[in-house]
Amino acid sequence: HGDSAQADRKVDSVCPYCGVGCQLTYHIQQEPSDRKGFRGQSEGEVRGPGTAEVASREGFTAPSRSSVTGFPSQERILFVEGRNGPSNQNRLCVKGRFGFDYPGHPARLTRPLIRKPGLPKGLDPDFDPAQPLTHFREASWDEALDAAASGLLELKTTHGPKALAGFGSAKCSNEEAWLFQKLVRTGFGSNNVDHCTRLCHASSVAALMECLGSGAVTASFMQALKADVVILIGCNPAVNHPVAATYFKQAAKHGTQLIILDPRGQALDAYASLSVRFTPGADVALLNAMLNVIISEGMYDESYIADHTEGFEALAASVTDMTPEAMSGLCGVAPAVIRDLARRYATAERAMIFWGMGISQHTHGTDNARCLISLALACGHTGRPGTGLHPLRGQNNVQGASDAGMIPMVLPDYQPVGDAQLRAAFEELWNTPLDDTPGLTVVEIMDAIHSGTIKGMLIQGENPAMSDPDLNHARGALGKLEHLVVQDLFATETAQFADVILPASAWPEKDGTVTNTNRQVQLGRAAVALPGEARPDWWITQEIARRFGLDWDYAHPREVFAEMAHGMPSLANITWERLERESSVTYPCPAEDAPGADVVFSDAFPRAGGLARFTPTRPLPPDEPIDGDFPTVLTTGRQLEHWHTGSMTRRSQVLDSLEPEAAASLSPGELNRLGVAPGEPLTITTRRGAITLKSRVDPVMPDGMVFIPFCYVEAAVNLLTNPALDPYGKIPEFKYAACRVTRAEKH
Ligand code: SF4
Repeated sequence: HGDSAQADRKVDSVCPYCGVGCQLTYHIQQEPSDRKGFRGQSEGEVRGPGTAEVASREGFTAPSRSSVTGFPSQERILFVEGRNGPSNQNRLCVKGRFGFDYPGHPARLTRPLIRKPGLPKGLDPDFDPAQPLTHFREASWDEALDAAASGLLELKTTHGPKALAGFGSAKCSNEEAWLFQKLVRTGFGSNNVDHCTRLCHASSVAALMECLGSGAVTASFMQALKADVVILIGCNPAVNHPVAATYFKQAAKHGTQLIILDPRGQALDAYASLSVRFTPGADVALLNAMLNVIISEGMYDESYIADHTEGFEALAASVTDMTPEAMSGLCGVAPAVIRDLARRYATAERAMIFWGMGISQHTHGTDNARCLISLALACGHTGRPGTGLHPLRGQNNVQGASDAGMIPMVLPDYQPVGDAQLRAAFEELWNTPLDDTPGLTVVEIMDAIHSGTIKGMLIQGENPAMSDPDLNHARGALGKLEHLVVQDLFATETAQFADVILPASAWPEKDGTVTNTNRQVQLGRAAVALPGEARPDWWITQEIARRFGLDWDYAHPREVFAEMAHGMPSLANITWERLERESSVTYPCPAEDAPGADVVFSDAFPRAGGLARFTPTRPLPPDEPIDGDFPTVLTTGRQLEHWHTGSMTRRSQVLDSLEPEAAASLSPGELNRLGVAPGEPLTITTRRGAITLKSRVDPVMPDGMVFIPFCYVEAAVNLLTNPALDPYGKIPEFKYAACRVTRAEKH
């Protein structure tokens, strides 16, 4: 990892990738004056440094600093080390350790850009990340911000507030999320604000809010070390939450029974007491059969149910007919195995359930999560050490961005927009009336653009031209927008549709807080200078807000955090100063000198009467079942080395070298059946399109399924995915689409 003697200084921060929230230390080096761009590439010199003179000219208050973040602009991150944070204890995965060079990539945007008149919008087929965007010209910040805001304001004036929408980013800080949703609510004038939670755990949050009254985890993943049984379902932590996976391995080595339920196999199977593969999309059948066993064999916790829950009788009645024998055909698990699973979980003294997007990304994702909650409540497995329910959150700040209100149906801290009393508190805090109707969600916004309802958007750091389902539909929508403003680090696929592109900040370039999957609010500290004229996202949002006539005057994220703490009871007793001292504080926190609660809901749930609720469910088929024409299940997800749409990791030299190209993973049996050798090309076709990419043999894949990661623009699997939504969480069915796999003649 380099020689620490070469580092000139160190900065403590947090990893910018996944929701584990590993704490790390950046080792910073003064750069040699002859630095040439991205190591390993011969072209593309990094463009000029930001200066106090530029900052001051453009109105950014950074007096007497040598750059807009206050650091010499010729510095770079030399290497990264894990530090002793509560969720990582010095550990880092490959992304946290090696994925830190993307901010210095030569394709980094360093000047505001405005689309040249008359040129078509859309993905540039000749796009070269090392070359300037040909359809845009450089502009000053004043000109670009004026153009960005005036285009949106004109649409609002002509068509009303609901003609605008905003996608914020779970890659930005809590303070930036707070400001973004505040801009949409108080400036645009509607609740049309959403972010990638809609594509990952919105259905989990819907079920948790409904059944427990809170959308966050009930216990940290470190509590797995105290559990007798840990169920992992619909998640692949060794790939997607790698440092959390080390805690599961550690727990298993110390005697915890690790039970893995998934249609695919995974690396953690080697540590599991029991691994069960079930039919894709049949979670409700399997979980209700387990509930049937627990209830019919009297293994439920009668006193816990009586004291802490409501609706058990209805649940019990609903699963009477869902015996293991009745559900076995649907879920593909033998009745004896279902009984074994149910007994192991129910008879454990302490048990936890962890889940990922294999649960949430279904049209019945909320039902899946409801079943998991019912299992925990029926067995009294919440509220004690070593027990709990934990949806493993994806992005580094998806928990915090959701808490901060970047959700169309709720204000910060999940307060429904339709509740007049709760809304009044924010109207007073922000001194403006607020819309009382829920806004549209991510996929609904794309539909509303096509129908002509939404005409202008502000997109901060999200990449719907890669991340949304049915990309031809989503990209078509972006192309139809009359005015699109994108703030980002790079000319992402989404930015190529923009009218104005604003160069934003990478995580190591700014101060801010993020909240990880464990409810730990953690402080990230600026480590290096912003390049060129790039600016922090909070500053950009404020400048647009000012052009909407809003009286904003934040000088630093700490001032935004203070406002958040005022409006969000969840942040009680957490201050910026405390975070500067402690780096991480878990919410809820009972006092300024007390630690936060690692395990919650010991006494009562935050629902009326303090009682959690059982919600019965019935098995439903996938929206698009496999059939004779499309006989294979297509499922999508991430890889260990790449993050989401790849905008950061595909510009990170080590990570992109490890996984440089798209591949479709299939079982050895499937490849044999197709007569295709690993590495030969395949074409994957669904009702929405076709892509061709290399094949990869993967023994953990079941027959009849293909897995493709969604970060490769050259084989963008979301061209194929199904946009059908879960009716509660409004999340698309990324984990199941009917496809046809054929040998490709050419790649
Ligand atoms: Fe970063 Fe997540 Fe890896 Fe930790 S586990 S280093 S937070 S990507």
